[in-house]
Amino acid sequence: MERFEFLDKSELNQLPKVSGVYCFRDKIEAIYIGKAINIQSRVKNHFNQPSYRDNLFMDKVEKVGYFETNSEIEALVLEASLIKKHQPKFNVVWRDDKNYFYVAIEKNAQKIPFIYITHQKKSGVQYIGPFVEGTALKKTLKYLRRAFPYYTTKNHPKTKCTWCHLGLCPGPDPDLTEYKNNLKQLSLILEGKRGAVLRALKQEMNLDAKNKKFEDAAKIRDRMNHLQQVMLHANVISNITTPIAGWENTKKILQGLLNLNSGVSRIECYDISNIQGKMATGSMVVFTDGQPDKNQYRKFKIKMENEPNDIAMLKEIITRRLARKEWPHPEIMLIDGGIAQLNVAIRTKNENSETKNIKVISIAKKDKDLYIERPKGYPTGFIPLKSLPQEIYNLIIHLDDEAHRFAITYHKKLRKKQILS
Ligand SMILES: [Zn+2]
Repeated sequence: MERFEFLDKSELNQLPKVSGVYCFRDKIEAIYIGKAINIQSRVKNHFNQPSYRDNLFMDKVEKVGYFETNSEIEALVLEASLIKKHQPKFNVVWRDDKNYFYVAIEKNAQKIPFIYITHQKKSGVQYIGPFVEGTALKKTLKYLRRAFPYYTTKNHPKTKCTWCHLGLCPGPDPDLTEYKNNLKQLSLILEGKRGAVLRALKQEMNLDAKNKKFEDAAKIRDRMNHLQQVMLHANVISNITTPIAGWENTKKILQGLLNLNSGVSRIECYDISNIQGKMATGSMVVFTDGQPDKNQYRKFKIKMENEPNDIAMLKEIITRRLARKEWPHPEIMLIDGGIAQLNVAIRTKNENSETKNIKVISIAKKDKDLYIERPKGYPTGFIPLKSLPQEIYNLIIHLDDEAHRFAITYHKKLRKKQILS
């Protein structure tokens, strides 16, 4: 069931417009696997509007594979099993285990087994997964719980609970054999073995009918119908292409990481670009509450003459920017470069008591490190980008990408103007 159909990346129009799983390959192997409600439009999206994460690998893609599914749940389940099997580089890189979701089935000899979603594995518990998208998994479980009612906690009250009344919980005193059988089937579905489950249910139903247990047979028939409906029609996959962690959470981590006493709302990121020292320009992009705030973007034509170097240009831009009292001050400034760039930025903003509290960080792409301003007397710290929390990593890469994109557009405009004149 796990064989992709492969197309060349120039043949995207031939991709099916149905739900399923897709796979990007470089010359050698699968490098990224994802799921989609509409394979063709999702894949085109990666190419035409790459996210900051896509930029890490889209230029390496040679072939695009696809696998059609009958439903979104099937796509979710298949995606999980294929990622587990192939371990594509760009599903795995920048994302450690704690970002994945597992369905845990906790079995305790004295108690009735129960189910929950978790990031962390511990011994003695059955796990299904990993799944990439928590929301889709939650929705799927919610739908499946109607067909296979289960406990979500260790202890059930002696009387019916809220879930019991909704038909999602098997009641205070369930038939253990039947309950365990249901859990088995639920886990098979989450492992992509829907056919096996439907066959087993049908067999059970026929047996009940043969033994004239018509009520039981009818119960199983209803369960099968429900399952079919859910498997075919439930919408569980979100259309959001890149999960953006809540800003509140990101902010908290940033404050801790940078030792910030104030809140964080405005972050500025600077980029300098030039062609052989000519027509050097600086650009500043602004994120407000974690999102690009394009009206605030600014460009600077470098004024200094005779072969300016990177450090001097950075100093010029930051000095000019901080002199603009009408622009709100940022809490954080992100700079392109290593320790030298960081130090010149810190010195520049420290020249003025009003801007002293701004925190400066710099991203050294070559070493893949983030340099961080420390309190006076402490050595400057750096953190490997890879080890940053996912939220912060995403934010930094997004800022940096956006600064480059903005700088390049401006540069092209300038050049065109020059050619025309
Ligand atoms: Zn209950």
